[in-house]
Amino acid sequence: METHVEGKKMFLAGEWVDGKQWIDVIDPQDGSLVDRVPAASKADMEACIEAAKAGAKTAARMPVFERMQIIGKAADYIELNAELYARTISKESSKTIREARKEVGRAVETLRLSAEEARRITGETIPFDQSPSGQGRVGYYRRFPLGIIGAITPFNDPLNLVAHKIGPAIASGNAIIVKPATVTPLSALMLAEAFFHAGLPEKILSVITGRGSEIGDSLVEHPAVRMISFTGGLETGLSITRKAGLKKVGMELGSNSPVIVLDDADVEDAVASSVSGAFWAAGQNCLGVQRIYIQSSLYETFRTQFIDDTERYIIGDKQAEITDMGPLITEKEAKRIEQLVEEALAKGAVLETGGVRDGAFYSPTVLTNVPENCTLASEEIFGPVVLLYPIADLDEAIERANAVDYGLQAGIFTKNLDHAHRAIEELEVGGVMINDSSDFRIDAMPFGGVKQSGLGREGIKFAIQEMTDTKAVCFKLG
Ligand code: NAP
Repeated sequence: METHVEGKKMFLAGEWVDGKQWIDVIDPQDGSLVDRVPAASKADMEACIEAAKAGAKTAARMPVFERMQIIGKAADYIELNAELYARTISKESSKTIREARKEVGRAVETLRLSAEEARRITGETIPFDQSPSGQGRVGYYRRFPLGIIGAITPFNDPLNLVAHKIGPAIASGNAIIVKPATVTPLSALMLAEAFFHAGLPEKILSVITGRGSEIGDSLVEHPAVRMISFTGGLETGLSITRKAGLKKVGMELGSNSPVIVLDDADVEDAVASSVSGAFWAAGQNCLGVQRIYIQSSLYETFRTQFIDDTERYIIGDKQAEITDMGPLITEKEAKRIEQLVEEALAKGAVLETGGVRDGAFYSPTVLTNVPENCTLASEEIFGPVVLLYPIADLDEAIERANAVDYGLQAGIFTKNLDHAHRAIEELEVGGVMINDSSDFRIDAMPFGGVKQSGLGREGIKFAIQEMTDTKAVCFKLG
């Protein structure tokens, strides 16, 4: 495959640019060097924003059929080179090759949806004569691009979460500057490569590599940037929100998602789905299952099966087909998880299985009897640790599920429609999955959190709403 990131240049406004300084991209599995990318400076960011001002005009003028063609071609390019994209994700992040392939498939779907949604950015007529002062007038509203979108993305889905920014931004006629996570910049650069090959006019897209702490403010605070679309942790999100000033902010933040298992559930299904939801991407997943509330009559059966399935997980070489779970993104992260588990055990939690660290690897871990005063009972773990709790009934489950500051998604396993409906009504989250774990998502659905889990929604159609403004038009008739 022809490549334009050889030498690991960053993609600034349509040009492949070297850095003056470099950042090493390290494989967390063995500490080996995967590649190097430029460490962009504030001046590079300023230059990107200047170029994006022209790019925004080009993007807004681009007819919808061209936007659709370009995004579609970028999707085709990724599909054609899918295995290379998957290997890159798996090398730079902590995903296994099977997890990485799934992410590539989703990124292709995200882009195809973006191309498709471009034709559905519509308005409505406005019956102006509903007001006495509106008599003799007709009109409508249409949606217009905001201009320049600044996108900041995390490490855990280094391709598809970037596609969730670039796809809808271009579909809706915006220019976009992406700052990917410093530990996983290669997949984002390869996404830029797909758009480069697809013929995207220059200055519409930049993927600028560099540390958020150094170049983030230049993007976030710049008045020409009309929206910051952020996916990442709560602390970074809060800091960006404080600095952004008068612009839109989209905040896709973390959670510690609950799953409720009632006594009429299909236990095998609930266990399989919750184990996968807890340990996907080594638990580094914003939707990851963290707290499971199981009705007492089922608790022992569920607990035993859950531990059995967890112990069957194969941990090891990310690139091997048989591996179920790879390492954490860094050894530092694995140590953070280890400390959280130790704190819980010291406070009386019971270690049912797991709890072993080896470098950046942390074994899939199941805890019970976790007291409410430990950090991992209320905060996001973002690692392969899951807590099981017996509950008396749905009332208790809902109360405990809601008793945290987060609210991204929740799952409930039940065959009782009334119970499912109560969960839908009362769970404080952005999505309720019935007979699936909190970890279920398709890229077309509205996605985002309530409470500290975020602001706004992604999912292509919904991201396009966020990335556009309405303009009202009124004709006074003669
Ligand atoms: P993070 O530490 O908050 O970093 C996210 C991004 O913010 C990175 O690109 C980072 O750059 C950048 N950043 C850091 N400091 C910044 C600053 N001062 N100004 C501007 N940008 C700055 O998050 P992470 O560890 O990569 O990702 C894990 C978190 O993301 C978890 O909490 C997870 O739940 C959340 N997440 C949410 C969703 C969702 O859709 N709701 C999806 C995935 C992940 P550097 O890498 O250079 O520091």
